[in-house]
Amino acid sequence: MSRIVYVNGEYLPEEEAKVSVFDRGFLFADGVYEVTSVLDGKLIDFDGHAKRLERSLGELEMESPVTAEALLEIHRELVARNGIDEGLVYLQITRGAADRDFAYPEAAEPTIVLFTQAKPGLADSAASRKGIKVISIPDIRWGRRDIKTVQLLYPSMGKMAAKKAGADDAWMIEDGEVTEGTSNNAYIVKGRTIVTRHLGTEILHGITRAAVLRFAREAQMEVEERAFTIEEAKSADEAFITSASSFVMPVVEIDGQSLGTGAPGPVATRLREIYLDEMRKAAV
Ligand code: PMP
Repeated sequence: MSRIVYVNGEYLPEEEAKVSVFDRGFLFADGVYEVTSVLDGKLIDFDGHAKRLERSLGELEMESPVTAEALLEIHRELVARNGIDEGLVYLQITRGAADRDFAYPEAAEPTIVLFTQAKPGLADSAASRKGIKVISIPDIRWGRRDIKTVQLLYPSMGKMAAKKAGADDAWMIEDGEVTEGTSNNAYIVKGRTIVTRHLGTEILHGITRAAVLRFAREAQMEVEERAFTIEEAKSADEAFITSASSFVMPVVEIDGQSLGTGAPGPVATRLREIYLDEMRKAAV
C-alpha cells in the first residue's frame, strides 16, 4: 500500500502527488514547516505547532490556505489513512508557484503539503536509553532562526559533519556560545539547574522546549534561560536536547568528551518520562 499524502486539498498516493517546478519553496526556500509527532495514533502538542505555524507565516507575510481546525482534521485524516501509531506528520506551506522573481508575487496561491512518516519505537528508542554524541560546529545560519523556514541546508551539512565524526548531531556555536542543535534545542544540567539558551531570533522557539521547561518548573527544578559556552557544556553534569521528534534526548558526549558518567543523566531521564506521560494524556 503506498503512502497517502495531502496536496492542495487532495489526498493522493505519494506517486501521484505533484508540485510545480515554479513553486517558490523549490526556487527560493520560500516556505515554512512544522513537524508534529504521533503517539498511540494521536497528535502531540498540535496546538503549539499550529500557533507557531501562524507566527512563521505572519513573519513572511503569507496567508495560511487553511484554518487551524481544518489543519487538525487533515492531520488526523492522514494519521488514520496511513495507520500511524507512532511517527510524525510533516507539514509545509510555501508561497506557491509564480514566474521566478525575487519580489513576492501578488497573487500566488500558497502550496500546502502534508505527509506522514511511520516511526515504530519513537518513544522507546535505543538512542534515548544510550544517549547521543554531539560535536560543535560554527553557526553560520541566517539571523531569523525563530522563523521555521525550509532553508535547512546548513543544518543538513552539520548533521553530515557529525556523522563523519562518528557522532549523532552537531551543536552550533556563535560568539563562543551554543545556539542550538541542527534540529533541536540544547540544554545542560549543573547540579539541579537546567540551563538553556534564552529565546530570541538566534534560535527556533521549540514547542517541546516550552512544554519541557513548564514541566521542569512544575517539578520544582531550577531553570535558567541564558546562553552557555561549549566549555561550560563540556564540564556540565548532564546535557540533553529537545524536539518534537526526539522528545527529550540525553546527550552523553560533546566533542569526544564524556559527560558525567557517560550514561544518560537523572534529570534528562526524568524529564523524558514526565514529558511523554503528560503529552500522551493531552494528545488529540
Ligand atoms: N531548533 C531547530 C533548529 C529545529 O529545527 C527544531 C525542530 N524543528 C527545534 C529547535 C525544536 O523544535 P520543536 O521542539 O518545536 O520540534
